[in-house]
Amino acid sequence: MRVTCPIHEGARRHPDAEALRFEGRAWTYGALDAEVARWTAALESRGLGQGDRVALLSTSHPAVAFLFWALGRVGAVFAPLNARLTGAELRPLLDAITPRLTLALEPLRDRLPGAQSLESLAEHASGASKSLQAWEEDLPRVILFTSGTTGRPKGAVLTEAAFRASCRASSANLGAHPAPRWLGTLPLFHVGGLAMLTRTAYEGGCLLLHERFDAEAVNRAIDTEGASHASFVATTLERVLDARADRSLPDTFRCALIGGGPVPTALLTRARAAGLRALQTYGLTEACSQVTTERPDEADGRTAGPPLPGLEVRIVGTDGVPLDVGQEGDVEVRGPTLMAGYWNQPAATHEALHDGWLRTRDVGVLDARGRLTLLSRRTDLIVRGGENLYPAEIEAVLANHPAIAESAVVGVPEPHWGEVPVAFVVLRPGHALPGDLDVWCRQSLARFKVPSRFVVLETLPRNAMSKVERTVLRRQAMSQRMYQAGS
Ligand code: ATP
Repeated sequence: MRVTCPIHEGARRHPDAEALRFEGRAWTYGALDAEVARWTAALESRGLGQGDRVALLSTSHPAVAFLFWALGRVGAVFAPLNARLTGAELRPLLDAITPRLTLALEPLRDRLPGAQSLESLAEHASGASKSLQAWEEDLPRVILFTSGTTGRPKGAVLTEAAFRASCRASSANLGAHPAPRWLGTLPLFHVGGLAMLTRTAYEGGCLLLHERFDAEAVNRAIDTEGASHASFVATTLERVLDARADRSLPDTFRCALIGGGPVPTALLTRARAAGLRALQTYGLTEACSQVTTERPDEADGRTAGPPLPGLEVRIVGTDGVPLDVGQEGDVEVRGPTLMAGYWNQPAATHEALHDGWLRTRDVGVLDARGRLTLLSRRTDLIVRGGENLYPAEIEAVLANHPAIAESAVVGVPEPHWGEVPVAFVVLRPGHALPGDLDVWCRQSLARFKVPSRFVVLETLPRNAMSKVERTVLRRQAMSQRMYQAGS
């Protein structure tokens, strides 16, 4: 089916409504449509057309939005690259997608030899473009590399249809809003950021784009720019709450989605006590962001909620057979938001997609009301003497200790048990490593779940999405073991 560019549609229906804001500058739908037309002409003059890939290395910047919609109009595929990657890490991604055009934000250009400047792409372009403001929604629109917490990144191919379905499903859950104003603090090279960029456009809303996460700037946008929705991960929500102190929230703010990794129930309870309606959500790149989200009227922070309307979730055993309510197993998802596959990786695609279902590689359980609780990534699961240990469960217990600011538990090989849990902890200011951490854990956890070692770190290693890099910790735990064994 052909769909019209939502920016063009917005310019026709409400040209003076605000569409985009960045560092004090604002673009109405009319102004944004004119800008996108200019960028479309610039792409045409470089011969870009249907199916061509365009790679981009950039932090969040208005030019990324101009480029994104212009690429839709010429039928080209947007391939944003993680702005934190080094030149050596970027090379194989470019080799995989063979872009017709490679662009980089000026300050990042030295990392991508041969890349053209994003900011000056449309410098001399006129607004006259041959391209239609409509395109086929089932063709590849975006290639998005998963954030790579589990090995080599794969490029998930997402269509415009998937983004539209994701927007519809999310709105059906959150309820209609006449003109949502989403806080865009997630990077535009991540599915969460792109979901906001597209969603605000489809709904005639405004994206309040931030180059990077800054708790003070987020609170200013909530208090003075009418932000209605936001998406945070657990650590950024905590920073927003710390920075707000006792300030109450204005009525304009509706809710925040919290996900991207384990979300402590206590944090969601704290947010709600502060008047910030925080809904736990579970999503992934391969399903175009949200899969399950708590329902606003029944959120208690204890689960990641039921599947969004139009999506299905099931739990299967290691033999692939669906399990009953209450049984723990692998999470699978079905629905119109799923990726078309991994770019040029038929074997990986075949492994991930089967009979319309996506194997998420997450372990979880459904309750009788269809609500999902995430237990672990399949790869983070610690199997100690045949018993499954879920890092998130142990981390939640450590989080309640007054001396612990945050922690990450990983499994390391051990000859007797196969694997044992090791906890990396970051201490709150002024605290030393408590001698009673194992006793503390034993009060709430069975003995076999208590970490065999506690290691103090200044900070936890995190990737561009603020996710803990567990492979780094696992390597560190293993090298320390070797050192101890040999010393
Ligand atoms: P890669 O797939 O390369 O390892 P990644 O896991 O960071 O990278 P994303 O698509 O960015 O890829 O993140 C999706 C993952 O985040 C999910 O598969 C899940 O493990 C985790 N996640 C998302 N929401 C939640 C949640 N509410 N609770 C626990 N984990 C979550």
